[in-house]
Amino acid sequence: MRAVPAPDPLDTWVAHAVEKPGATGIFTDFDGTLAPIVDDPAAARAVDGAVDALHRLAARFGVVAVISGRPVRFLMDRLELSTRPQATNLVVAGLYGLERARGSAVELHPDAGRWAEAVADAAARAEADAPPDVLVERKGLSFTLHVRTSPMSADWARSWIEACAAATGLVSHPARMSYELRPPVEIDKGTVVAELLDDMSAGCFLGDDLGDLPAFDALDRLTADRGLAGLKVGVRSAEAPQELIERADVLVEGPVGSAQLLERLGLDGA
Ligand SMILES: [Mg+2]
Repeated sequence: MRAVPAPDPLDTWVAHAVEKPGATGIFTDFDGTLAPIVDDPAAARAVDGAVDALHRLAARFGVVAVISGRPVRFLMDRLELSTRPQATNLVVAGLYGLERARGSAVELHPDAGRWAEAVADAAARAEADAPPDVLVERKGLSFTLHVRTSPMSADWARSWIEACAAATGLVSHPARMSYELRPPVEIDKGTVVAELLDDMSAGCFLGDDLGDLPAFDALDRLTADRGLAGLKVGVRSAEAPQELIERADVLVEGPVGSAQLLERLGLDGA
C-alpha cells in the first residue's frame, strides 16, 4: 500500500479560514516577525508588503491583530493606522496587551496604570546604573535593557533585572538579546489571543521569540478545548529559540517569509 502524504498544515488551515473568514482570527508579532531585528530598536520597520497585507486581511477576516511588546503608539505609527481609511479594522495590542489601540485612542489595561510610577522609578535607576553600552528603552508601562550591541553586558543586565524584579514586584521577561520588566499583571500574548478568538472557529499566530510561546499555548488550548482550527507559525532566524521552532506547525524564513504568508492568506479563495 502506498503511503498517503500527510496534508500540509498550512493548506488545511487556509481551507478553514477561507470557508469562514468572519470567524477567523489572524495574529502576528512585530519585531523579528514582520520587521527585521536591527541594532537600534527605534529604527525597526516592517518589510515591504507586510503592512499592506495586514490591512487587506483586516478588511476580510473576523479579527486581525498585531500583538507586540512594543508601545502601542510605536506600532500604530509603523502600521500606518492614522493614514489609511478603514485602518480601525486592524487591532493593535502593545506591551503584550497592557495597551490597546481603539481607533486613534489608546486604552490601558485596568490593572496596569497603578504600576506606572514603580516602572518609571526602576527605569531611571537602570539608566543611572547601566554600562554605557547597554540601551535602556522606556516603554511607558514597561522598560527593556538591550544588549544586542553589547553581548558582554548580558550577564550584568540579567542580574540587574532579576534584582530589580525582586525588589519592586515587577516581573522580568527575557527575550532576544534583551531583558524586560513589566507590571505583575496576568496578561501576555496568549491572553490577548484567547480573548480575541472568543467566538472564532479558526486562528493563527506568527511569532519568532519566547514571548510568542504563550500565544502558541493559547491556540493549543482552544484547539483541545473546543476544536478551534489553530495554526502556529514560527519565523526562522539564526536566533530563533529551539522551542518555538519545535512547536510551530509551519516555519517561514524571516520577516519576508511572514509577509509572503500573509499575502497568500489575503489572496487564497478571495
Ligand atoms: Mg518578535
